[in-house]
Amino acid sequence: MGLLGTAWGQAEVLAGGTDLLALMKDDVVHPKRLVNIKQIKEMSGVTVGSPGLRIGSLTTLGELADNVNVVKDYPALAEAINDAASPQIRNMATLGGNLCQRPRCWYFRGGFGLLPKSESGKDLVTEGENRYHAILGNDGPAKFVSPSTIVPVLVAYGASIRLVGSKGSRELPLERFYVIPKTETEREHDLKPNEILAEVILPSPHEMKVAHYEIRQKQAFDWPLALAAVGLTMNGPSVQSARVVIGYVAPIPWRSAEAERVLVGKSVSEDVAKAAAEAALQGATPLSHNAYKIQLAKVAVKRAMLKAASGGAA
Ligand SMILES: Cc1cc2nc3c(=O)[nH]c(=O)nc-3n(C[C@H](O)[C@H](O)[C@H](O)COP(=O)(O)OP(=O)(O)OC[C@H]3O[C@@H](n4cnc5c(N)ncnc54)[C@H](O)[C@@H]3O)c2cc1C
Repeated sequence: MGLLGTAWGQAEVLAGGTDLLALMKDDVVHPKRLVNIKQIKEMSGVTVGSPGLRIGSLTTLGELADNVNVVKDYPALAEAINDAASPQIRNMATLGGNLCQRPRCWYFRGGFGLLPKSESGKDLVTEGENRYHAILGNDGPAKFVSPSTIVPVLVAYGASIRLVGSKGSRELPLERFYVIPKTETEREHDLKPNEILAEVILPSPHEMKVAHYEIRQKQAFDWPLALAAVGLTMNGPSVQSARVVIGYVAPIPWRSAEAERVLVGKSVSEDVAKAAAEAALQGATPLSHNAYKIQLAKVAVKRAMLKAASGGAA
């Protein structure tokens, strides 16, 4: 842990390298040290816990999607992973790297920073090309969208994570890991510079119906325009509790309390799903070129809800 340093910029953790090496080649990040964790065997693989699953952060996306317990008990997770990237990338990319990957914002990737500003201090995203940017949670300087398509499904399952640092380890719900940065020195997650993400813990899927729905511009290894993941616990025909998570609309995976309130106590019909989707996007504040995402996100939320209610992923 001592190799990692105490401030961002001193060192970066290297796992599969599918994101970090691209950022280094593009001269966007230039760490003084790379700390390769790929050989830490204890941080790889899936173990059946009591209850639930513990997934080492170095487990590749490919291994995870093929894992018999994931396929059987967390089919929406297997489905989301198989929709992500390409088989070649999934064979290199690790789950920890997926959770910690940096935003795809083209200003960030172009070297203008996470909260890009012009020399005169103008907000480059607000003034510029923002068609893929945030429509929720964008009232501060952060306008990028959270990049992982797998995280919303993990949040819908109620996943938590374990972070390990020089002073020990801490566990927190995955959704609390993501934060909206307010200054350029902050990152988009609550990882300290001297910590690594060690494992993801999934609770028992018992009685939970989970589904996800993605809307992509093209059926290729690209990122979606909007997606939703929904987890439902039922009490007979009615929803007892719900987790509604929208991806690609905000700097964090966006959990919609408004949509969840609409669902609880009802059975999920077309009309209820539509009302919940409307509620989820009611507070949207689109930028100059991305109002189209509101309708896409509503469709994703509604279809994920109906899919979850009818039994979840196939
Ligand atoms: C063409 C293409 C298409 C893609 N499509 C999708 C998609 O549809 N959906 C999707 O979700 N993703 C997609 N991705 C992103 C891909 O999933 C990530 O690049 C990958 O998961 C990163 O994992 P890695 O092990 O290679 O991480 P690395 O590149 O090694 O690291 C990524 C970042 O995470 C940090 N990091 C890695 N592991 C840890 C750890 N254990 N603890 C702390 N920090 C860590 C690194 O320091 C770095 O900042 C795509 C990527 C490409 C290139």
